[in-house]
Amino acid sequence: MRNILITGGTGYIGSHTCLPLLKGGYKLTIIDSNVNSTPTSIERIKKILKNNFSENQISFFKGDIRDKPFLENIFSNAIKENNPVEAVIHFAGLKSVSESIEKPLLYWENNVFGSICLIDIMTKYECRNIVFSSSASIYGNTSFEPILETSEIKPCTPYGYTKVAIENILASIFKSSKNSWRIANLRYFNPIGAHESGFIGENPLDTPNNLFPIICRVANGKMNELQIFGKDWPTIDGTGIRDYIHIMDLADAHYAALEFLFRNKPQILNLNVGTGNGTSVLELVNKFMKVNKCNVPYRFTEKRLGDLPFIVANNTQVTSILKWKPKRNIEQMCIDGWKWQQKNSNGY
Ligand code: NAD
Ligand code: UDP
Repeated sequence: MRNILITGGTGYIGSHTCLPLLKGGYKLTIIDSNVNSTPTSIERIKKILKNNFSENQISFFKGDIRDKPFLENIFSNAIKENNPVEAVIHFAGLKSVSESIEKPLLYWENNVFGSICLIDIMTKYECRNIVFSSSASIYGNTSFEPILETSEIKPCTPYGYTKVAIENILASIFKSSKNSWRIANLRYFNPIGAHESGFIGENPLDTPNNLFPIICRVANGKMNELQIFGKDWPTIDGTGIRDYIHIMDLADAHYAALEFLFRNKPQILNLNVGTGNGTSVLELVNKFMKVNKCNVPYRFTEKRLGDLPFIVANNTQVTSILKWKPKRNIEQMCIDGWKWQQKNSNGY
C-alpha cells in the first residue's frame, strides 16, 4: 500500500479526500494540529467505510507542520516500517480571509513557514510528490470572464498572498531539481456541501465567515439571519457570483491529481478546480430553501471589504489533464450540506 501523508487531514477538505484515497487502496498517514478540527472526523470516515478498509490503512498523529522534529519522526518511522511516505497532500493551513487581515503574521507564519518546514523535510527524505491546496483567492479577477490559470495573480488579502508565496516556493523548488519533483497546485474555487451520508462535513470551530455554512446555520436557527453583502453588484440579480463545487467532487479531484502525478514524469501543474458554473448568492439561498423546504431569512447589507463580483473557473485544464469532471449539481450540494448540518447541529 502506498503511504500518503495528509497534512490537515482531519479538516473539511482533508477528511472528505480521505474517502476516495482509502477506497483506492492507499495507506494514509494523517497529521493535524487540530487548530480548526477534531480527530472525530477520522472515526466518522471509518463509519462511512464500514468494513471496506483495513485498520492499518489509517494512522493519525496530532502535531504541527511547523514542528520539524515531529515531521522528521513521521518520515523516519515510515521508512523504519518499510513503507516510506511517497507523496504528500498538503491541506494544513489557516483559511479565514478576515482573520488573515487582522493577524497577517499568524498567516505567514503558519501557512508559509509551515509549508517551508514540510518541504524541507520532504526533500531530506526524498519524497518529492506533492498536491497543494491553493485557492482562487490568488486571482484579482475584475472581469466577468471565467478565470484561466494564466489570469493575473493579484491576491487582495494576506491569506491569498500566503497561497501565492507557497506556490512560488514550490515553483522554485521544482526549478532547482526539475527531474525529481511532481507538484500539483490545486486552486480550489468554493467547496461546499458534505459527504452524502451526512457523517462528515464542514465543522468550523469558530463563527463561520463563508456563505454556505452561514446559510446552514441560519436555516437551523443557530443564527438569526443571513446578511447578503451588497445588492448592486453588476450581476444578474445584484449579488456576488461564485463557482461552488461539491466537496466530494473536490475530493475526487485530489485522487485524480495524485494518480496523475504518480503516472507521469516530474512536472509542476497549476489547476483551477471548479465547475465552470457561476451561482449568485440569491440563487444559492433560493435553491437551498427550495430543495430543503426550509426558510433562510436574509437582509442586504454593505459590501464586504475586498469582495469581488465574479469568481468562476475556466476548468478546461483540470478536466482535460486529470480526466476528472464534477458530477454533482448545486441542488445536491444544498441537500448534502443540510443533511450534515441537521445530523450534527453542534458539529462533531
Ligand atoms: P480546515 O480548517 O477545515 O482544514 C485545515 C486543517 O489544517 C485543519 O484541520 C487545521 O486544524 C489544520 N492545520 C492548520 N494549521 C496547521 C498546522 N500548522 N499544522 C498542522 N495542522 C494545521 O480547512 P479546509 O477548508 O479543509 O481547507 C484545507 C486547505 O484548503 C487549506 O489550506 C485552505 O487554505 C485551502 N482552501 C480552502 C478553501 C475552502 O473554501 N474551504 C478554498 C481554497 C483553499
Ligand atoms: N457572502 C454574503 N454573506 C455572508 C458571506 C458571504 O453575502 O455572510 C457572499 C460574498 O459576498 C460572496 C459569496 O457570498 O459574494 C461567497 O462568499 P464566501 O465568503 O463564501 O467565499 P469567497 O468570497 O471567499 O469566494
